[in-house]
Amino acid sequence: MPSLPWGNIIFCSLETTEKPMTKSFRVFATCDLGDALNLLRNKGYELEVYPHPEAPPKSLIIEKLKTGLDGLITTLRDKIDAEIFEAGKPTLKVVAQFAVGFDNINRADANRYKIPFTNTADVLTEATAEFAFFTLGALARKLWSAEHLTRDNKWGFWHPFLPFLGDEVTGKTIAIIGTGRIGLAMIKKCAGFDMNMLCYDPAYQNHDYIKAIQETLDLRHERGISKEKNWIRYTGFEAALRDADFVSVHVPLLREGESPTPTYHLFNERTLRLMKPNAFLVNTSRGPVIDEAALAKALKEKWIGGAALDVYEKEPLAADSPLRDPAIEDRCRLYPHFASAARITRLSPDPDKGMAGRCVQGLMDVMEANYGGDVTKMPYVVNKEAFAK
Ligand code: NAD
Repeated sequence: MPSLPWGNIIFCSLETTEKPMTKSFRVFATCDLGDALNLLRNKGYELEVYPHPEAPPKSLIIEKLKTGLDGLITTLRDKIDAEIFEAGKPTLKVVAQFAVGFDNINRADANRYKIPFTNTADVLTEATAEFAFFTLGALARKLWSAEHLTRDNKWGFWHPFLPFLGDEVTGKTIAIIGTGRIGLAMIKKCAGFDMNMLCYDPAYQNHDYIKAIQETLDLRHERGISKEKNWIRYTGFEAALRDADFVSVHVPLLREGESPTPTYHLFNERTLRLMKPNAFLVNTSRGPVIDEAALAKALKEKWIGGAALDVYEKEPLAADSPLRDPAIEDRCRLYPHFASAARITRLSPDPDKGMAGRCVQGLMDVMEANYGGDVTKMPYVVNKEAFAK
């Protein structure tokens, strides 16, 4: 069993005060996670939280690590690589990431330094999928333009088609790019809107789930709940783009060399041109999956109908980004990396409900050598391969 080098430290809560910790773990959190951090404080961890809302500079994280930290709590804003792991030597035992995506962490470096890192998968799945669905609806039905019309006092009359119309979502065809946790949750939501679904994923295809969704669609039709007989199937990337009215992206950011099917600039001039001229693109995955310059051009030159974006190549979105061009503002919804930003999802201290709870539990699992100290058995550790015998 690959167990942790610091062994089984006797560990119990200070609240129970039966036995104190034999050692107080020192942790630096690069941001506040709310009440969940009290789980650590109550157990006697020595916790320092970066007090500002922005990310700390990397040099500060390095400075903290050099004082002999045991654990680091990070977010997607912190670049975690060899420089960080080197500074953490020899005390750093775990990096606990407050996010499901971990493209900010150099996995190969973590493995080389044998530092396990954790993420907060699953607990943000439904929140992210519902946000993707809502933004898709807001884009297609022009909710932003419609509210502006009202607020700006430009709503002068009711008219059959003036000043503009939106497009229905119900009954349309959507391409789901990436059928992992969030992609499958998105499929469930689209099924409720009688959508047809084209799925694409080169690495993971959940045919049982797709079959169950088809059975649900069939039943809804048989029982008169849905007028049309809707369908779902796996297909190729280009076929999905060509035939869809909506395209929703649910892939991790994988750069060249990190995967046989990288996702960096998966959407570029060539692939955007494959989409229908009235199709809508929704991205709640990671910004660099889309070549933003190409997308701005696609919107301006009307190769596609519109886009709703939650994530960007550089965050926050630059003041001079072409995506802010007023010429495309009615067809381009822009959100501030907000898809998982719902109260329970972000902050619940319960590891089965909240990212904060899951992040803290992931850290404690490693620190306290839970699961017999076997990193490969810890549910929230990502880079288990570095510890496999
Ligand atoms: P997941 O690992 O369960 O699913 C990702 C899927 O993408 C996998 O099935 C994988 O096989 C597939 N994939 C990989 N390369 C692909 C490619 N080239 N083309 C198509 N599919 C490919 O991850 P998840 O929990 O569903 O999360 C997906 C991503 O969403 C995260 O990595 C994160 O970057 C992003 N995310 C963003 C927010 C937000 O706030 N906007 C919130 C949560 C997650």
